[in-house]
Amino acid sequence: MKCLNCGQENKDSAKVCKKCNRGLSAAPAWFPDFRWHLKTLGFIYLGVVAFYFITTFALRQLPKPYHLREIPPEMTPWLRKGPKFLPEDQLKAPADAPAPAPAAP
Ligand SMILES: [Zn+2]
Repeated sequence: MKCLNCGQENKDSAKVCKKCNRGLSAAPAWFPDFRWHLKTLGFIYLGVVAFYFITTFALRQLPKPYHLREIPPEMTPWLRKGPKFLPEDQLKAPADAPAPAPAAP
C-alpha cells in the first residue's frame, strides 16, 4: 500500500506509514502552496484596490461642498470665535472691532 502523504510503499497490513508515521487510511494533509498564496493574496489586494477606487468615485459624486475635506465656516457657526448663535446680520459685524475712542473733552 502506497502512503498518500509521502508516497512510501508500506505493507498492506500496516496501519501507519513507516516513513512519515501518518495513518494510511487518512487523506493527505493539505498545505497551501505558493500558487494558493499568490491567488488568495492577489484577490485580497485587488479587492482592496477596487474598494479604494469605488469609494473615491462614490465620494466624488456627492454634492458640493460635502466633497471637501474642510468644512466651510459658514456651515459651522458653532465653531466660530466670538459671539455664538447670533443672527446672521449681527455676525457680519466684526467681533474684535476697536472700541470707539472716548470723546475729547
Ligand atoms: Zn508516508
